[in-house]
Amino acid sequence: MGNYGALFKGTGSMYHGSCLCGKIKFTLSGKIDDIVYCHCSQCRKAQGSAFATNANVKSYSFNFICGEENLSSYKYSTEQTKYFCKNCGSPIMSKNINFPENVRIRLGTIESDISERPVAHIFVSSKANWEEISDSLPHYAEYKTNR
Ligand SMILES: [Zn+2]
Ligand SMILES: [Zn+2]
Repeated sequence: MGNYGALFKGTGSMYHGSCLCGKIKFTLSGKIDDIVYCHCSQCRKAQGSAFATNANVKSYSFNFICGEENLSSYKYSTEQTKYFCKNCGSPIMSKNINFPENVRIRLGTIESDISERPVAHIFVSSKANWEEISDSLPHYAEYKTNR
């Protein structure tokens, strides 16, 4: 048991997240991949904001502590379903049938300090005309990689 803690070095150990009303709580036990600011019109509507901060985590690393029964879902397309708290509306995650190994999270629901950082702005071609992006991360007109 001497080096038990070392198992989690560099993985950010355990992150905690929850919805606004607190009924839904979850943990992330693995690292957070490919954090992007998505400026597409769908994300803007889903968040009611200039952009969504999205990332991938492995499905097996995402676990509910409580409140899973409060999840409601919206089938956005034949591939993608978005899950949110039916009590407070916080967006918790989305799943894509083409990527069953991943859960797509909205980073604003994470309460923990995280070690990962955003890597890009995507769908910059469809950003709101009132938004100015002023950091130096790379911009992509649409998808950066596979999503
Ligand atoms: Zn809630
Ligand atoms: Zn988007």
